[in-house]
Amino acid sequence: MSERTALYEGKAKIIYAGPQDGTLIQYFKDDATAFNAQKKDVITGKGVLNNHISEHIMLRLAEAGITTHFIERLSEREQLVRALEIIPVEVVVRNIAAGSYARRYGIEDGTPMEEPLVELFYKSDELNDPLCTEEIAVRLGWAKRWEIAAMSEQALVVNDYLRAFWSDLGIDLVDFKLEFGRDDGRVVLADEITPDGSRLWERGTGRHFDKDVFRKDLGDLTETYRALHARIFGEGSG
Ligand code: ADP
Ligand code: UDP
Repeated sequence: MSERTALYEGKAKIIYAGPQDGTLIQYFKDDATAFNAQKKDVITGKGVLNNHISEHIMLRLAEAGITTHFIERLSEREQLVRALEIIPVEVVVRNIAAGSYARRYGIEDGTPMEEPLVELFYKSDELNDPLCTEEIAVRLGWAKRWEIAAMSEQALVVNDYLRAFWSDLGIDLVDFKLEFGRDDGRVVLADEITPDGSRLWERGTGRHFDKDVFRKDLGDLTETYRALHARIFGEGSG
C-alpha cells in the first residue's frame, strides 16, 4: 500500500480519497468481525474475493438499471466509487427467516416468507445497530421520508434481481443488508454486496456460503468464499 491517508477505517474496508473530486477508493481488508466486532479474525484472501464478488454484482445491477456508486475495480483489493453522503439507515431484505429476525420473534430459522420483508436499522456501532422504523428514522433526522421510501423500493428491486442471480447458481438468497448514500438529490446504492452482508444457502443441502461460517465456526471462510467465487465466475465445480 502507498502512504495515502485513510479517510476512514471500518471493520471490513478502508476508505481513501479517490483520484478525482467526488470519488473514493474502497480497499477491501481481510478482517472479519461478527457480533459487533466482539469476534474478530483475519481471513487471508477474503478482501480480494469480496472485491471481485461485489464488483460483479454491482455491474450486473447497473445493467439491470439500478444506479450504484461503483465506477471501476482498480486492483485486487481496491475499487473506485462515487463519494456519497451515507444515509445512516441500513436496509435489510429478508426472504427466509434467519438471524436476528428469527431470534427476535421466536421463529424457526429457515421458515420461508410469503413476501420479502424490508427492515431498517440505525447504523451505529455504539448502539449495536438497533432496529428502527421509518417514523423513527425521519423524526431523529437520519433520513427524509422520501429517502426511506426510495431505499426500500430500490432494495426490493435489488432483491428481485439478486434472488434470480443466486438461484441460477443453486443458492437461496435468505437475507442481505444494503447501504445507500445521497448524491445530487438522489439515493444511490453504496458500500458492498458480498457474502459478508448476505445469507446464502445452497439449495438442497443448506450449505452456508456466507459469513455465518465465521460467526458460527462452521468451517473455513476463505474456502467458502472461494467456492462461491468459483460458482459465480464458473471456475471449476466449487
Ligand atoms: P463499517 O463502517 O460498518 O465498519 P466498512 O468497514 O465496510 O464498514 O467501511 C466502509 C465504510 O464506507 C462504511 O461506513 C460505509 O458506509 C462507507 N461507504 C460505502 N460506500 C461509500 C460511498 N460511496 N461514499 C461514502 N462512504 C461509503
Ligand atoms: N448484516 C450486515 N451488517 C450488519 C448487520 C447485518 O451485513 O451490521 C447482514 C447480515 O449478514 C445478514 C442480514 O444483514 O445477511 C440480516 O442480519 P440480521 O439482522 O439477521 O443480524 P445477524 O443475526 O446477522 O447479526
